[in-house]
Amino acid sequence: MDQQDFDIHNSAAERDRDYERALRPGRFEAFAGQEKIVENLRVFVQAARMRGEPLDHLLLHGPPGLGKTTLSAIIANELGVGFKVTSGPVLDKPGDLAGILTSLDENDVLFIDEIHRLSHTVEEYLYSAMEDYRIDIMIDKGPGARSVQLNLSPFTLVGATTRSGLLTPPLRARFGIDCHLEYYDHEVLERIILRSAHLLGVECKPTAAHEIAMRSRGTPRIANALLRRVRDFAQVKGSGRIDLEIARYSLEALNIDRYGLNDIDNKLLLTVITKFKGGPVGLSTIATAMGEDPGTIEEVYEPFLIKEGFLKRTPRGREVTETAWRHLGFDTPDESFGGLFK
Ligand code: ADP
Repeated sequence: MDQQDFDIHNSAAERDRDYERALRPGRFEAFAGQEKIVENLRVFVQAARMRGEPLDHLLLHGPPGLGKTTLSAIIANELGVGFKVTSGPVLDKPGDLAGILTSLDENDVLFIDEIHRLSHTVEEYLYSAMEDYRIDIMIDKGPGARSVQLNLSPFTLVGATTRSGLLTPPLRARFGIDCHLEYYDHEVLERIILRSAHLLGVECKPTAAHEIAMRSRGTPRIANALLRRVRDFAQVKGSGRIDLEIARYSLEALNIDRYGLNDIDNKLLLTVITKFKGGPVGLSTIATAMGEDPGTIEEVYEPFLIKEGFLKRTPRGREVTETAWRHLGFDTPDESFGGLFK
């Protein structure tokens, strides 16, 4: 990539971030779906406020784009405290962690994204910070080295992860609240799309929002990104208004899967069908055939395919459903009797 490409790429990424920020709900009321989690969090937030204490440390897990960052920012907002964001891979050395922890004010929320990617050393420093609001850091090297204890303001750590299976038990045990975010139903995504369209000042018909929602892989981030693309088509090829016709036209032009499946979802189904006759087949065998990590398949891709009825977990392994055979343009094994798969 030359510098110019890099600049273009960077500014596109920045625009995406600005756009996400603009559409991010700031209060519990505006956060659609995940009702059970939101209901509980409202209680915990209110109780912490009444006691003037920090909220318990909170772990949010679930696939990308489901609202972990958004929910954490809402929590800080509702608590009326400051919000700082960092991520596991960025906190490279204990000093990085100490720097951010000592900058927190009383009861602030510290959000660590991809917390499963913290290094072991940094993670160990985090234990005493979470438990006793203090950390011991080493100053100097060699014979002059000494340990200094730093007292921290009480704070709330919100850890987010797409791979909760990779968290070590001691870290996991230090979170008092544990929430798993689920994929969103079409109807909730439709509401999110209509709200975003409103914020963007573009008219969007409910039927069009429904069509976009169906193809958003149960994920608000994808729903908002598709809305933005459809808005472009509506502006250039249509009347500026998003109706069903322009939504369908745009989604076809963008080659978006009818069910919202992405390349890896489709590759997974295709691998099970073409290499393992539709299954049942073990997770690690599928992962090896795809050149993917089994944990990522299990925690990031599979849940959506199971929710939408493309894949089943059976005692003998994973099996694709009739819907998956048809979706990928194959006859089901029963129909193709005598054919390729019999
Ligand atoms: P994650 O941290 O889980 O990857 P984010 O919190 O960054 O996901 O959410 C991605 C985008 O989706 C945000 O910009 C936000 O606008 C939108 N979003 C996520 N969850 C919701 C929700 N429940 N209601 C409305 N918008 C949401």
